Amino acid sequence: MIEIDLRTRELIEEVRELGQKYIRPIGLEADRTVTPPPVDHEFYLICMRQDGLVQRQIGAGDEVGPTALDWKPVRGFLVLEEAAYWDRGVALSLPGPGLGGPALRSTATPEQRQKWLSIFTDHSVARWGAMAMTEPGAGSDVARIATRARKDGDEWILTGQKMFCSNSARADWIVVWATVDASLGRSGHRAFMIERGMPGFEILKVEHKMGSRGYETASFVLDDVRVPGDYLLGGESFYESKKGFKASMATFNMTRPLHTAHGVGMGRAAHDFALEIVRNDYPAQGRRRQRALERLARIRRGLHTSRLMYLNAVWLAKKGQSNALEASYAKMYCAPFILEAVIAALDIAGEAGIRNDRMLEKLYRDVKILDIGEGTQQVQRVVVARQLFDFPRDI
Ligand SMILES: Cc1cc2nc3c(=O)[nH]c(=O)nc-3n(C[C@H](O)[C@H](O)[C@H](O)COP(=O)(O)OP(=O)(O)OC[C@H]3O[C@@H](n4cnc5c(N)ncnc54)[C@H](O)[C@@H]3O)c2cc1C
Repeated sequence: MIEIDLRTRELIEEVRELGQKYIRPIGLEADRTVTPPPVDHEFYLICMRQDGLVQRQIGAGDEVGPTALDWKPVRGFLVLEEAAYWDRGVALSLPGPGLGGPALRSTATPEQRQKWLSIFTDHSVARWGAMAMTEPGAGSDVARIATRARKDGDEWILTGQKMFCSNSARADWIVVWATVDASLGRSGHRAFMIERGMPGFEILKVEHKMGSRGYETASFVLDDVRVPGDYLLGGESFYESKKGFKASMATFNMTRPLHTAHGVGMGRAAHDFALEIVRNDYPAQGRRRQRALERLARIRRGLHTSRLMYLNAVWLAKKGQSNALEASYAKMYCAPFILEAVIAALDIAGEAGIRNDRMLEKLYRDVKILDIGEGTQQVQRVVVARQLFDFPRDI
C-alpha cells in the first residue's frame, strides 16, 4: 500500500478533471492533425496557475517559488503519471523546465538554477525548458556527442547539431551537452545553457512522429553560438574528474523513472479501455470473459510493480542516494511490459481496438517511444550489467 498525502491526492484529482476536459481532447486533436497544441493554448495558462501541473516537480523546482527547499519528486511523478493517463504527449508538453529540470539539478550552481528556474514563477505566461543530448551520430552512445564547445576569452562558442529534442522549438532555454574535446570521451562533456534568440541557434525541423504527438520533438543547429562564461553549468571546476559525464548520467537517473511513470499512466488507460469493453460487450459468463479478466489482472500486477519501481528510484533520489540501478530497472521492466499490456488490451477489445475513436490504437502508437527515449531496453541492460558486475565501459 502506497501512502499518498492529502495534497498529492488533491493534485491528482485536479489533473483528473483537467484530463477529461483538456488533456485527452487536446491529445486526440494533436494526434489527428499531427501538430502539438500552440504555445498560447489556454490549457497551458491554466497549468501555469496550477502549481501542481508545472513540470517543476520532476527534478528542479526546489530552489524557486513557494516550494523552495521542499522538493517533492514522489508527488510530482504521481501527478505526471495521472497526466499521462489522459495523454502522454500532452503530459510531456506541460509548461516547465521539462527534461531540462533534472539536467539543471545535476549540474547547475544554486545561482544558475535560480536564474533559469525563476522564469516559471511568472504564472501569466507559459514557458518551457528542454535538454539536448542526442545528435545525428550519438543516440544511445552519448559518449559520441560531437557538438563542440570552445573557449574564446570569457565566452564559449558552441557548434553542432542536436536532434529529437523535446519541446526545444518552444523552449526559452535549452541545456545543451557538448564536448570540449571529443577524444576525451565522456570526460570532455560539459553542459551549457542556451537561450532562445541567441544568434546562430536555429530550429531545423519539428518531427512528424508515429505517436505521442501532443508534444513537439525538434532538431536544431548551433552555428557558432556564443554564450557567456557563466552559461557553463556548474562552472569549470565542476567538470574535474569526469563529473560532467556523471552529471549527464544523473540526469537520466531522473528521466528514466519519469518515462516509467508515464508508462504506468498509459498502461492504466489501456487497462481501463479493455475493462470497459469486457464489461459492456463480453458475455456475462464463460471462458472468454474469464480469460480476458485474467489478462487484465496480469496487467494490473505489472502496473503496480512498475509504479513501485519508479517510486523506489525517485525516493532514493529524494534521499540523495544513488539510484542508477533502480532507475534502469524501472525503465527496463516497464517499457516492454506496457507495450505488452497495450497489445493485450487490443486483443481483448478485438475490432473495437483497431478503431481510432477507442484510443487503443493511439496508445499502441504512443507507447513505443517509451522504449526509445532515455535509453532503450538493450542499453538499460548494459547499464545494469556495468553497475552489477563492474563491466568495462566500451561494450
Ligand atoms: C519522441 C522522442 C523524444 C526525444 N526527446 C529527447 C530529448 O528531449 N533530448 C534528447 O537528448 N534526446 C531525446 N530523444 C532521443 C532519444 O534519447 C534517442 O532516440 C535514444 O537515446 C536512442 O538513440 P537512437 O535513436 O539514436 O538509437 P540508436 O542508439 O541508434 O540505437 C538503435 C538500436 O541499437 C541498439 N543499441 C544501441 N547501442 C547498443 C548497445 N551498446 N548494446 C545493444 N544494443 C544497442 C538500441 O537498443 C536500438 O535498438 C528523443 C527521442 C524520441 C524518439
